[in-house]
Amino acid sequence: AATPSGATIEAWLDGLRGRLADDVRGAVADYIPELSRADADGLAICIATVDGQVYGVGDQAEPFTIQSVSKPFMYGYALREYGVDFTLGHVGVEPTGEAFNSIILDDVHNRPFNPMVNAGAIAVAELMKGATMAQRERNMRELFSQFAGRELSIDDSVYRSEHATGHRNRAIAYMMLNSGMIRRDPEDVLDLYFKQCAVSVTCRDLAVMAATLANDGANPLTGDKVLDPLAVRDVLTLMHSCGMYNYAGQWAYEVGVPAKSGVSGGVIAVIPGQLGIGVWSPRLDAHGNSVRGVEACKAVSSAFGLHVFNAR
Ligand code: GLN
Repeated sequence: AATPSGATIEAWLDGLRGRLADDVRGAVADYIPELSRADADGLAICIATVDGQVYGVGDQAEPFTIQSVSKPFMYGYALREYGVDFTLGHVGVEPTGEAFNSIILDDVHNRPFNPMVNAGAIAVAELMKGATMAQRERNMRELFSQFAGRELSIDDSVYRSEHATGHRNRAIAYMMLNSGMIRRDPEDVLDLYFKQCAVSVTCRDLAVMAATLANDGANPLTGDKVLDPLAVRDVLTLMHSCGMYNYAGQWAYEVGVPAKSGVSGGVIAVIPGQLGIGVWSPRLDAHGNSVRGVEACKAVSSAFGLHVFNAR
């Protein structure tokens, strides 16, 4: 496959990697203590196509925890298992314009605004099926493994670190218990949420997971149909309007592709019918988005003309 300049994809991506390596703005997240151990200079960029080609440069095999990049996949699960109407009873579809960890519910329905911020994702975590905590954890891991096309596991030290310090998320869960939005024991719901955030992935995994969304919900490597196309449409819509938190509006304007970021420095972007992009680099900007992740997606979007509203 070739790029606009005629270079191979890998050569083009490697040029981009070299340019981004000089950008040392931002800071590694440390509010979850274990995340501060990440290699601040780490950088990987991967692209997976809907016909199953995977291209990558940099620290592609370096593991990190998925964090908020888990949120669209869990939302897709809720839509698959319960349908739209039931899911809308638990979480809305409006951008918040606020930080990812804001403690707010909409005052009409007492509902979290959307599934891409913590409150909404915690409400969605309650919907994971399974009679016991162990079964829910197994089902959650299986879901992520299907999206990635390989067996994924949980990074126990990051999970424990967030479990020990995640009091703001605890406050959000108890607030939703108070308003009737959560019905299970909040500690159980938080436990699954912290485990979902601690699923260990590589940049290559992120690209394949994004490509599964680009491919109408079928994993391009395994052929596994993980979501149906209507659920994928709803997931991508929310990634487009809410995936980059309080930077989502500017992102939609400049980059123009559905995306999701997480505090460990991962970013995914989805070009429906074409490809998934995964980027990993741990230094974050003030919104909690990877500095180099944002820059990499801007560069790919503009070089390949991927903005959804580009003139044709
Ligand atoms: N586990 C993190 C938290 O709840 C996820 C947040 C994120 O990646 N933005 O704070």
